[in-house]
Order: sequence, then structure tokens, then C-alpha cells
Amino acid sequence: MTNMLTLIMFAVVVTILLIIHIKRKDDEFKRKLELEQEFQETLVAITSALPCTGLIEVTGYDQSANCSTESVIQFKTEVLLEHIKREYKEDLSGVELIRENDRALCWIRNGDLTIEAISRPPAILGNLQHLTHELLLNQQGVVHCNRCKRDYQANQLKYAPHTGGIGWNYDSFWCSEGHLISKGNQLIVCGVYNQK
Ligand SMILES: [Zn+2]
Repeated sequence: MTNMLTLIMFAVVVTILLIIHIKRKDDEFKRKLELEQEFQETLVAITSALPCTGLIEVTGYDQSANCSTESVIQFKTEVLLEHIKREYKEDLSGVELIRENDRALCWIRNGDLTIEAISRPPAILGNLQHLTHELLLNQQGVVHCNRCKRDYQANQLKYAPHTGGIGWNYDSFWCSEGHLISKGNQLIVCGVYNQK
């Protein structure tokens, strides 16, 4: 009788483990399918967009407020390409097109850099906000401030470093008239305020 009970208990445990295993495999399979679908949709969105040319134009972006600034930034595609290769050392094969640099690389490789006209990244690439901010940090690009209607080379912009205060921190670029061009490079500073 005890043996029978042990056998039943064993069978129940094995069945439960089997169900958990099947469920886990099923979840993994579904996640894989979702990722594959996402990859294909992103690829179609990028390859069916207007092609990348030798000059890229984006709207300036404020990452702290998640909105555009009143500025337009232009940079040579070659400069962006070199930046991605140097900073991210990416090879597109097998990449899931999740990160901004992967997507930008895919768009650039599907374009024609000999075309001199200006191109704007497809919606799925947004304002290339992280990459654009990084290029400004490297003093690359030309900026037009829509508020003071003036053009600036990247090295003519005023740079405000991270404040280092507790919470989210950003560094930023401003035109000489004090208009925000780009805010990014997000980092968080942890700590506690002194109570007085
Ligand atoms: Zn301005």
C-alpha cells in the first residue's frame, strides 16, 4: 500500500514537472516567434523607407522631456557610419535590429551615400537621438536653431555637462542665444539628500 502511494506521488510529481517543462518550452517558442516577427517588421520598415543619402538631417531632441527641440541638425552619413563602426563595432549579420545603432546601420547600408540630397531617417529611427547627441559630443555636424534662425558648427555650441545632482542627469548643447539644441547622455545619480 505504501509502495503504491509512493508510486502515485512519484507519478504526480513527474507529471507536474513535465507540464512545467512543456509550458516553458512553449513560452520560449512564442517569444522567439515574436522576436522574429518584430525583426521582420523592423527590416521592412527600414528597407521600404526613403533611402539614406550622403547627408542626414534630424530634428534636435531633448531626452529629458522626450520631445524635439526647435533645431535641425545635419551631419555627413560617412561620419555617422565611422562613428557606429568605431563605437559599437557592429556587424549587422544576426543582429536583431533592436538598438538604434543597428537600425541606423541597416538604413545606411540600404542607401546610396553618393546621392548628395538630404535624407531624413525613417520614423522607426526617430531622431537618431542617441547617435546625434554622440556626434555633437564629438563636435560633428551643423546645427540650425529655429528660434534665432542662425547656423552653428557643432564646436560653436555651448556645452553644459551633467550637473551630478541626485536623480536623472543629462548633458546638453545650447546655441549662443541660450536655446536648447540637444539634451541627452542620460545617467542616474543615486544618493540621499541631507535633511537639515
Ligand atoms: Zn538659437
